[in-house]
Amino acid sequence: MRRPFQAFDTKETKIITTVHDCHFIGGKFQSSKSSDRIPVVNPATEEEFASIANGSGEDIGRAVDAAVDAASGWAHTAPADRANHLRWLADAFESRIDEISTLVTRQNGTPISVSRAMQSQVPVYYRYFASLADELVVEKHLQTSVGDALVRKEPVGVVGAITPWNGPQPLLAWKIGPALAAGCTTVVKPSPETSLDAFLFAELLSEAGIPDGVVNVVTGGRDTGSTLVGHPLIRKIAFTGSTAAGKAIAAACAADLKRVTLELGGKSAAILLDDVNLDAFSSFVASACAPNTGQTCRALTRVLAPRSRYDEIVDMVSATLSKIPLGDPTDPGVSFGPLVSARQRQIVESYIALGRQEGAKVAVGGGRPAGHDRGYYVEPTVFRDVTNDMRIAREEVFGPVIVVIPYDSEDDAIDIANDSEFGLGGGVFSPDKQRATDVARRIVTGTVGVNTASFPVEAPFGGVKQSGLGRELGPGSLDAYLEPKTIYRGT
Ligand code: NAD
Repeated sequence: MRRPFQAFDTKETKIITTVHDCHFIGGKFQSSKSSDRIPVVNPATEEEFASIANGSGEDIGRAVDAAVDAASGWAHTAPADRANHLRWLADAFESRIDEISTLVTRQNGTPISVSRAMQSQVPVYYRYFASLADELVVEKHLQTSVGDALVRKEPVGVVGAITPWNGPQPLLAWKIGPALAAGCTTVVKPSPETSLDAFLFAELLSEAGIPDGVVNVVTGGRDTGSTLVGHPLIRKIAFTGSTAAGKAIAAACAADLKRVTLELGGKSAAILLDDVNLDAFSSFVASACAPNTGQTCRALTRVLAPRSRYDEIVDMVSATLSKIPLGDPTDPGVSFGPLVSARQRQIVESYIALGRQEGAKVAVGGGRPAGHDRGYYVEPTVFRDVTNDMRIAREEVFGPVIVVIPYDSEDDAIDIANDSEFGLGGGVFSPDKQRATDVARRIVTGTVGVNTASFPVEAPFGGVKQSGLGRELGPGSLDAYLEPKTIYRGT
């Protein structure tokens, strides 16, 4: 197989990538039919260090054809065999975690320690989906009132997987894992900011013995994605990204009644109950409220504080965030990196300006950090004196901007938390676990943590309202990639 590039000079771990004018189709890196290129920029240095092909309709067509050709063979592979391939994929990924982590950091600025932690989860995901393939019962007898029936679970068909830049490999695993376990073949369209790691991922497929055409990768931007969505032979789209793009994709899927799973944006609330232990909560501020430099869909960016403890909580959140080491994302001691792009920084800065105009006060941050003239850095920023009707409290910023909103009673806190177009994450913090759980039951959201910011692979993840449709992870993960088919057999 021709490798599209040599990702690293292994001795110096220095990227020497340049132009990646190809896609991964039918098990081979094949030249793009498009002459259009998209630059790949290191957000810490603002240097363009590579470019990718902006895939054309012809590229998508070839990839879908390859996935269609491979579909029958893969669908008829025994689920236990597919499970083994997923375990081999997990092993292959594990052996290259450092390389992939570094490459992701170069592209999106995720601090390397965070990037390693994210990539370390990826084999866990593939092994979990393998275990679900092992448990998959393809055909069941059902005794009905008019005789027996066979209920089969058949793969939905060719799946288009479209991913964002903030967690490219984990979010790809959430789609490819269950799709392959269910017997579907796939075409992946990674985000243009993070496509290089998708090429490395493609190399792992043959190591895992996954047949040619089962996973194909076409790089490109929004138009490449919408061409994939509109392709008549795609039967399902699994998408993670912005709510605006999700709505466009849902509308396009509706036209052809394609199945669709959407993991979209959020504006999740952390409710600090009046007995909250602030020392305990402070250890969650970075991981729960501003993970990955705030560029995480489930970040708890609205902190709801009892009015009686408002100042204390604003001070604690501000002090904690301002102490987080910020800088070069390749430094293992750094926990806050640059934002992914100049555009993302401009969006975040415009929200900071908007918050000030709306009358909120900056408690900490609000500008660019000193000593970082290059790179798309923004200071972690906390707004106080925020009301829930301000746009800064209602719209997803997707950066390290946290608003602290006072509340007067538990009911008031729940009303504020639920007064949102989104419903992806959430958190309730109190030493009284039962009380916090009772509050969590009343939050309208897809996931909510009680004194925790972690979410395990074994439980469903996803959003309600404008945060999405359907769920990824958890024991039902494969259902989104399977169609039940009933064979009635009479008496
Ligand atoms: P984005 O919507 O701009 O792009 C995501 C992907 O979709 C990219 O690959 C892009 O090229 C493609 N795309 C964009 N418009 C498209 C269209 N009309 N048709 C087909 N493909 C299209 O999002 P982003 O800026 O890359 O990522 C940030 C967003 O993702 C945030 O809103 C964040 O909340 C969300 N997100 C959600 C989750 C979740 O699990 N709910 C996880 C991570 C990120």
